[in-house]
Amino acid sequence: MRDNFKRETMCVQSGWKPKNGEPRVLPIYQSTTYKYESSDEMGKLFDLEKSGYFYTRLQNPTNDVVAQKICDLEGGVAAMLTSSGQAATFYSIFNICEAGDHVICSAATYGGTFNLISVTMKKLGIESTFVDPDASEEELNKAFKENTKVVFAETISNPSLVVLDIEKFAKVAHSHNVPLIVDNTFATPINCRPFEWGADIITHSTTKYMDGHATSVGGCIVDSGNFDWDKYGDKFKGLTTPDESYHGITYTKKFGKAAYITKATAQLMRDLGSIPSPHNSFLLNLGLETLHLRVERHCENAQKVAEFLENNDNVAWIDYPGLKSSKYYELAQKYMPNGTCGVISFGLKGGRDASVKMMDKLKLAAIVTHVADARTSVLHPASHTHRQMTDEQLIEAGVAPDLIRLSVGIENVDDIISDLKQAME
Ligand SMILES: *Cc1c(COP(=O)(O)O)cnc(C)c1O
Repeated sequence: MRDNFKRETMCVQSGWKPKNGEPRVLPIYQSTTYKYESSDEMGKLFDLEKSGYFYTRLQNPTNDVVAQKICDLEGGVAAMLTSSGQAATFYSIFNICEAGDHVICSAATYGGTFNLISVTMKKLGIESTFVDPDASEEELNKAFKENTKVVFAETISNPSLVVLDIEKFAKVAHSHNVPLIVDNTFATPINCRPFEWGADIITHSTTKYMDGHATSVGGCIVDSGNFDWDKYGDKFKGLTTPDESYHGITYTKKFGKAAYITKATAQLMRDLGSIPSPHNSFLLNLGLETLHLRVERHCENAQKVAEFLENNDNVAWIDYPGLKSSKYYELAQKYMPNGTCGVISFGLKGGRDASVKMMDKLKLAAIVTHVADARTSVLHPASHTHRQMTDEQLIEAGVAPDLIRLSVGIENVDDIISDLKQAME
């Protein structure tokens, strides 16, 4: 049962519900396996006849409780944790695509997503088309093919900070009878709940704001339960016809609205095994307990830093969807009126060299391959996360060669601004 609380309360209270005399704090079930009284009972679990735990690669109580909290926050019907955001992205697509299928993805995505879809999934026989997220509905329609199975995009793209017109993407996907998967890592459910705008499935890299302290790599997939797989059963045979590897179970028949997540768990997690360690899930849960407070401060600080940079003579350009000057200001106001994220992109007048030099002079902000944790950090995507891309691909993905990705932390904003000031001088 989903909690009927406000999001702030869910961050603190959802998930673990101790019964009388049980630990108040979510226990770490650091156990690979689970004991049963009879062999018959265990057999039923293997047949998915009964629900219960038998092996942590498939399910673990600590992991499940944390998945439930994220599920509640997003307003979904079922969720699963994965060992990384990459695994979440891969499973979310591969759960409904196979060799011979086609994926449409926004060109403004995380570099890892771009590589996964354009290189690795291609090797598995899954073709893709990358589309301009700002394209009109007519232009987007042209990208669809007979074998298109899914549309994938990010609510706020990393690192180009494109705010997705979720309703436009959902409408176009649904008019072609396929679901929209949205990576909601940067906005988090505190600022935006994509299901309310028509997205069908949400993925997260929990590594970022959800963990918030840069301790654990992790991911999550949440299903809204809204996509009618049976209605387009021919497209989604994996969900709507018997699974030979599970004694002929048909997921939509047996699990209804939980079909998608059950298949991802029973089939993909069973066979590919990208589970989070229960200890990491425990840490993730601690992060989630303060997500609402941290996200609010990240956004407040980032707004002030963005305004400082916008008015600084050394800055050539700046992108922050919270600035009125941003191309995405209107969309951000619509989809995330309380704030966007703590990440800012900007470039210096001296170009790529000046940007790199400035980063080396920062004292408080550290150069790290990370975003969205409590500490302010910087990254130069062209030399780091996106370095395998050609200049052409970089520009298509909205990543200028001089782009500095500044992840504003939750320190005192005056200290963050002073640090930037001294580095630019
Ligand atoms: C970091 C990130 C990912 C990948 O997640 P990992 O946890 O690093 O595997 C996917 N999408 C977005 C938007 C990200 O920022």
